Amino acid sequence: MVDSSQIRNYLNEVSDPEIPVLSVLDLGVIQQIYLDSDQWVIELTPTYSGCPAMQQIESDILLKLNEKGINNARIKHILSPAWTTDWISKEGRKKLLLYGIAPPVDEVDKKTLFADGPRVSCPKCTSENTRMVSLFGSTACKAHYQCRECLEPFDYFKCLK
Ligand SMILES: [Zn+2]
Repeated sequence: MVDSSQIRNYLNEVSDPEIPVLSVLDLGVIQQIYLDSDQWVIELTPTYSGCPAMQQIESDILLKLNEKGINNARIKHILSPAWTTDWISKEGRKKLLLYGIAPPVDEVDKKTLFADGPRVSCPKCTSENTRMVSLFGSTACKAHYQCRECLEPFDYFKCLK
């Protein structure tokens, strides 16, 4: 008989289809996991409405649990409080950096704001002398940046609050 922490471990093997280095746990979308009658309930907070990755994530979760012999699980959406990029784990932020994606910075803090976008450290050389090239990168949740020091182009995971 599995328990909820075992299921949580399984979910560590389910990654964000847009950012494969991040598991759904790193992303912070998984809330409570519990048994309701004979069904496992996986509480999930979508990153933002209309994110094309969410449906993929949900079917990947159920598929992974099926693989592990759990056929009685369902996803329950938790919409409040809404997900923010603050929920991305510390571990997740490290993984993003190693993958070459700048993790979200607090864009509300005026000190981080440049005229052409928030101040974001280059994931390669850590310089803050960077510029936003485009508000949209490879996916809608990222902006495209370039480092002025090492000239590295990189994606920035936009802050969402
Ligand atoms: Zn750089």
